[in-house]
Amino acid sequence: MKPNFNKTNGLLPVIVQDAVTMQVLMLGYMNEEAFEKTQKEQKITFFSRSKNRLWTKGETSGNFLWVKEIFLDCDEDTLLISVKADGPTCHKGTISCFDNQQKKGFLYRLEQTIHERIDQNIENSYTNQLYQKGINKVAQKVGEEAVELVIEAKDDNAELFKNEAADLLYHYLILLKAKGFSLEEIEDVLRKREK
Ligand code: AMP
Ligand code: ZN
Ligand code: ZN
Ligand code: ZN
Repeated sequence: MKPNFNKTNGLLPVIVQDAVTMQVLMLGYMNEEAFEKTQKEQKITFFSRSKNRLWTKGETSGNFLWVKEIFLDCDEDTLLISVKADGPTCHKGTISCFDNQQKKGFLYRLEQTIHERIDQNIENSYTNQLYQKGINKVAQKVGEEAVELVIEAKDDNAELFKNEAADLLYHYLILLKAKGFSLEEIEDVLRKREK
């Protein structure tokens, strides 16, 4: 794994992608020194063109980007790094610097949020409170939301229908978590059925 730093004045563009949701988080630049530091520490350090120095993403915010995998493009002058982000990547507080442009993959981000609430045992989180009641309660809730959706399907109130459809998806994700499955595993089942 050796990028070619000679082609582009020593600075290579780096696309940073969340390893789980596949969301593009930001774009930065690395010189050779930044690349080596990144490899050594397994967290991303860029060369900041505005600061004109090495910049470890998260150095003040604490929102580091932990390296999962590093990929080179076809001619070795662009990097794609998949990461685990400690918190919002954008300094404006959003998960991605391209937050408004990326609507897809939302379910995976929601799933991630649900897992965080539960894994960190957040006390005032409804998600976690429901989860703590156990699988039967969660499953029952999914059943209730499904029935509510069926009832709204018979009506023609678009807003109510959409709200119940959202409730069902949300509770469905909690049930997957309670059973120890991930959305990805379910997606795999569906994908296999495709042909
Ligand atoms: P941080 O590296 O997260 O501690 O942030 C330090 C400073 O870097 C912030 O105050 C911003 O000026 C800048 N910064 C942080 N994150 C980004 C980003 N995703 N894109 C551009 N600038 C950023
Ligand atoms: Zn290239
Ligand atoms: Zn940003
Ligand atoms: Zn409902």
